[in-house]
Amino acid sequence: MAHYDVIVVGCGPAGLKAATELKKAGVNVLGIDKQTDLAKNFRSASGYFITDQEMNGEYISLEPVGKNTKIHYRNCGFTIDYSGLLEPIHHTHIVSHSQMHLQITSTQKPLFNLFNPTKWLSDRYGEAQKAGVPFLTNTLVLKVKEGPQGVEVTIRKDGSTSTLTGNKLIASDGLQSRIAQNLGFNRSRAMFGKGCTVEYEMDNLDVPYDRGDIFIFGDKNIGLSAAVIMIPSMRSKKAYRVETLSPIPAEMATRIIEFMIHDGALAKWFRNAQIVEKTGAIVGIAAPIKVPHRGNVLLVSDAAAFAETLYQGATMCGYMAAKAMVDELAGKDGFAGYTRWWNSTFEWNTNPLRMADYTKRSLIFRFITPDELDLLFDLGALIEKLKIMRTADMGTWASLVSKAKEKMAK
Ligand SMILES: Cc1cc2nc3c(=O)[nH]c(=O)nc-3n(C[C@H](O)[C@H](O)[C@H](O)COP(=O)(O)OP(=O)(O)OC[C@H]3O[C@@H](n4cnc5c(N)ncnc54)[C@H](O)[C@@H]3O)c2cc1C
Repeated sequence: MAHYDVIVVGCGPAGLKAATELKKAGVNVLGIDKQTDLAKNFRSASGYFITDQEMNGEYISLEPVGKNTKIHYRNCGFTIDYSGLLEPIHHTHIVSHSQMHLQITSTQKPLFNLFNPTKWLSDRYGEAQKAGVPFLTNTLVLKVKEGPQGVEVTIRKDGSTSTLTGNKLIASDGLQSRIAQNLGFNRSRAMFGKGCTVEYEMDNLDVPYDRGDIFIFGDKNIGLSAAVIMIPSMRSKKAYRVETLSPIPAEMATRIIEFMIHDGALAKWFRNAQIVEKTGAIVGIAAPIKVPHRGNVLLVSDAAAFAETLYQGATMCGYMAAKAMVDELAGKDGFAGYTRWWNSTFEWNTNPLRMADYTKRSLIFRFITPDELDLLFDLGALIEKLKIMRTADMGTWASLVSKAKEKMAK
């Protein structure tokens, strides 16, 4: 039976980084993943990337170098290479039930940057290969249990089941972690619910707004009481990732997008659209696991998180987990150190209100009805009108009134 110092289960952004750092530190590590191609993103991911501000205990800054970017994690103290440039985005939009439109623009610094999740993974996978990490791909981990040699991992590959052993294990198997469930980590966890998303990446859209993300509400636009987010895609200036925020079953999510692009009030944006890629994900929302280790197992990144750590956070978790593991293998209390770091960084660990805050932007439609949202937009427009009226002299006032009269006559 093959034996390793550390087995890393799940090789997304967290697992790839953890395995790479462990290998570089001379640890006999194995990475396992059910996917065949570790250089490609399969789960929906929009491409938001937040820099130049404190977030989740980290301050990330970008350093463009020619056509590539160095991404510096200032607090954790490491840098990764990204083989491209990130795109700064300065605008965000909301479209109401009756197609009223609110735009917010940040002139000082970008609201966020866009990155390409597949490029991120292929860069991390390339780094792992360069370091010499061995991987078992197309391999499903069925069960993990403590054994006499540390951990026993039952896997299924090509239809046959076998067992591997390791001194220690990193579980970075994502939001619906089978290992967290297996080992009983979820028993004392508050479960808040599940939603699903279907994402169509589309090119050649005719969107009349400044390039930015667009939140769309209302059944005139999307056919159901739910929401759609459109995020610009780096594929082209006319490309967007269009994704739903919808209840399960997943079939509802597809109905929403199909309605929006064919029958909704915004269908004209999609007349010439080509669908480039379709992905989807189930998103379970649960309180974070505050003590993410038990016995020889360390749960890392989304596997222990509230909703998501994002690519940027997952990579940082992988880096910190590898450091903790090296300490643990040397007989030091590495897991306790990781736990202290975990609890003092991610916002929803340091302040429970952040869990609710995270969902407010996307679930506003379940609290405020489409008509109420329209009313809020109207109020905004009305306030602007009253401001103009307050300072208008007689000439301006006469022209404003006559323009308004013409508009009302139409
Ligand atoms: C709709 C949506 C939009 C998002 N948008 C963004 C965004 O804009 N920006 C951003 O940074 N992040 C975004 N994210 C979040 C981001 O995808 C995650 O936070 C990040 O991928 C977490 O990384 P991870 O390594 O912890 O887990 P994952 O990326 O989920 O990786 C887990 C890995 O484990 C493997 N695995 C799981 N179970 C098993 C098993 N039993 N056996 C073997 N292998 C297994 C999977 O194949 C996968 O490769 C989005 C997520 C969703 C769902």
